[in-house]
Amino acid sequence: MKRITILGATGSVGSSTLDLIERAPDQFSVEALTAHRDVAKLAAAAIRVGAAVAVIGDESCLPALREALSGTGITATGGAQAVIDAAALPVDWTMAAIVGTAGLRPVMAALERGGAVALANKEALVSAGEVMMAAAGRAGTTLVPVDSEHNAIFQCLDDCPPERIRRIILTASGGPFRERSLAEMRGITPAQAVAHPNWSMGAKISVDSATMMNKGLELIEAFHLFPVAADQLDVLVHRQSVIHSMVEYVDGSTLAQLGSPDMRIPIAHALAWPDRMATPCERLDLARIGRLDFEAPDMVRFPALALARAALSAGGGRPAILNAANEVAVEAFLTQRIGFLEIAAIVGDVLDRYDPPGPQTLDAVLAVDAEARALARQRVKDCAA
Ligand code: NAD
Ligand code: MG
Repeated sequence: MKRITILGATGSVGSSTLDLIERAPDQFSVEALTAHRDVAKLAAAAIRVGAAVAVIGDESCLPALREALSGTGITATGGAQAVIDAAALPVDWTMAAIVGTAGLRPVMAALERGGAVALANKEALVSAGEVMMAAAGRAGTTLVPVDSEHNAIFQCLDDCPPERIRRIILTASGGPFRERSLAEMRGITPAQAVAHPNWSMGAKISVDSATMMNKGLELIEAFHLFPVAADQLDVLVHRQSVIHSMVEYVDGSTLAQLGSPDMRIPIAHALAWPDRMATPCERLDLARIGRLDFEAPDMVRFPALALARAALSAGGGRPAILNAANEVAVEAFLTQRIGFLEIAAIVGDVLDRYDPPGPQTLDAVLAVDAEARALARQRVKDCAA
């Protein structure tokens, strides 16, 4: 029986994780579930799976959570520190599925605690990759990537020495605007941007997929997870999202992982690893799919990808700035304060204006993050004015 915690249990990845563990109740027991504000969804899930603890990040929601859980025997806690404390509870396996920088301290607490951490929260590695990987190394924590591309790469890596890897190829669907001109993208609405052609995901990552910032964040995530240099990481647009990524070896062999675009597949891989478990996911029917298409990404129409590539090459605090400015800009776009093309423009502008020395600790990363957010908010105001 694996004892597990889910950080971000009410989100898209969190819900998919719950779906899998509820199908295998004899294999998993739940310590803690956390959420930001959705008391009803959190309480219902905690009751269904018999969690020991339910944590609501926004402390003003704690009275409602207490009421929803009264008489159940489930402990209710609230506030940002309570989420971190929940992440530090002893378990065998943690799903890190909070979105954005809000996940950094909880992910760090889980990594320092040890066991296995299934990582969906890519922003944690983008902003604080060095610090996080060092913490995992010290604690002997196994990081199992959940992001479909990184999970695919994890599955394609054999036991050869790292120098036998020639290249890692991250596939990208290209998002909903793969074929739109820049002029057409100017007027894109939040509803159009979150409607991903292949995947069903939370709002932030859906917008990131539409700008292709998501693939940029994933390049940085891959750099920290796998033993390759930045220039060994390539992006390939593959509209069907059937091949989730590939590893090319020096002998010319390229290994790929394929599957239906359903996050429960990589999540199940991370849940059962190093074993495998059955899922109800649609099986791959290649005869029906018929063909797989590939093309190079367009860095002109998708400038966010170029910004992320440059931040990865420069290293230091650049990825944290990129990530923080992007979070602010995406939020501003979702609340209709800026246009779609302004997202990458604001990120580029904040990167131009702010270039601090590389942060060496999590606190220093969060300080860089805070400053980049302040600059991005100012640029949002300028755009809206
Ligand atoms: P989501 O928006 O659907 O869910 C986010 C979760 O985080 C929710 O449970 C929410 O309550 C919680 N949360 C948000 N802000 C918080 C805060 N300030 N404090 C505490 N908790 C907070 O997001 P998602 O699509 O499930 O994505 C989660 C993470 O996984 C992201 O980093 C995303 O990039 C990554 N990811 C998602 C997918 C996907 O298919 N959805 C695929 C790959 C990677
Ligand atoms: Mg991905």
